Amino acid sequence: AKAQVVVIGGGSGGATAAKYLKRFEPSLRVVLIEPNARYFTCYGSNWYLGGLTRMEDLEQTYGALRDRHGVEIIHDTVTAIDRDTRTVHLAGGEQLNYQKLVVSPGIDFRYDTLEGYSQAVAEEIPHAWKAGPQTVTLRRQLEAMPDGGVFAMVVPGNPFRCPPGPYERAGMVAHYFKHHKPRSKIIILDNKEAFSKQGLFMDGWKQLYGDMIEWVPSSQGGQVERMDPATRTVYSDGGLTRFRADVLNFIPPQMAGSIAREAGLADATGWCPVNQLNFQSAMDPDIFVIGDACIAGQMPKSGHSANTQGKTAAAAIVRAMADQDMLALSTVNTCYSLVGPDYGISIAAVYRYTNGEITGVPGSGGVSPADAGPNFRRQEARYTQGWYDSITADIWG
Ligand code: FAD
Repeated sequence: AKAQVVVIGGGSGGATAAKYLKRFEPSLRVVLIEPNARYFTCYGSNWYLGGLTRMEDLEQTYGALRDRHGVEIIHDTVTAIDRDTRTVHLAGGEQLNYQKLVVSPGIDFRYDTLEGYSQAVAEEIPHAWKAGPQTVTLRRQLEAMPDGGVFAMVVPGNPFRCPPGPYERAGMVAHYFKHHKPRSKIIILDNKEAFSKQGLFMDGWKQLYGDMIEWVPSSQGGQVERMDPATRTVYSDGGLTRFRADVLNFIPPQMAGSIAREAGLADATGWCPVNQLNFQSAMDPDIFVIGDACIAGQMPKSGHSANTQGKTAAAAIVRAMADQDMLALSTVNTCYSLVGPDYGISIAAVYRYTNGEITGVPGSGGVSPADAGPNFRRQEARYTQGWYDSITADIWG
């Protein structure tokens, strides 16, 4: 039988790894297991909330991976990884053997960290931090909100999926409010003291939306301790400070997807330690963990990071199977965010493996200039769409 690599998860990391395994070594048998026939990218889901895009525009499918690249696709859920026999078990009853296994299950939510909150509550008070039905629920709630209402977002501490994501969301919702309910307010209750691209976001908010967006850091009441879902009220400062919202978007703290944790691939942090040279699990040499689930040094949890990690792991697996040493590859990340439809900002970095850890290459990347004019911001908004088109083509095309 042909050598077989199994990939768990057809999101940003897993779909990239599957495609590039076939590109690097066409003779490999690569089987990708993903429950959903349609994947909705989280990237762009804030644009949908702002009314700039439709959910259909965020949909990705698996036809090209199968027909163009020769990846075998099974739409099912992995229920267990038996590491001793190198077997994965599927919900449908099937079992698959692997020589090497790539695990890219994304995140799960910690529903038990806030009094008053639970998985059931999350149906009414959506996190919308996995794109899909909850994203649509949140948009409907914003549409139903009266002019003059309050939209409150509760943001977790680091690390979490997409560090600039909440702040892009605030700007996109402000864009919608500005045109449809201009007396409304947005409050961001943050479990930290600083955030990604902070200066750029705050300047952009001021220019486009005046005082509509208020950011509350953890030391000033942003650290939420309790929720009353019935009244959509959250409490901080030992109950002394409270915020009542018309639409409440609670983004819970996160951890690696359950299949990774149940297989013993995570440590006490809830995330999966890896050899940051090649994403080989610290717990099992035949398993590679990539994407949001892994601990990747200074790389943020982003789709672009997951994409470069997928390529790195694919190269490592192909070389390991040919008894070749791993090369020290560079990885990259760029995160574009829209503040408004014609107002884009970005952060970029090149990473290298040094002294056991992934660190940013000094002098590489950076953020958009603080003093750029409207033409520059408009240009970056175009690049944002260009980035979306090229990364989705690279992953699922
Ligand atoms: P995912 O893409 O979530 O894929 C995981 C897949 O695994 C899923 O399809 C799931 O169905 C599958 N799976 C889980 N468990 C199992 C199992 N047991 N068996 C089989 N399959 C399983 N990133 C950017 O780079 N740029 C952006 O502009 C950006 N914007 C964002 C905006 C928002 C609002 C959010 C929430 C995120 C954004 N991100 C962005 C982050 C990006 O979406 C994630 O970092 C990225 O998707 C992580 O890839 P992944 O492969 O780890 O997980």
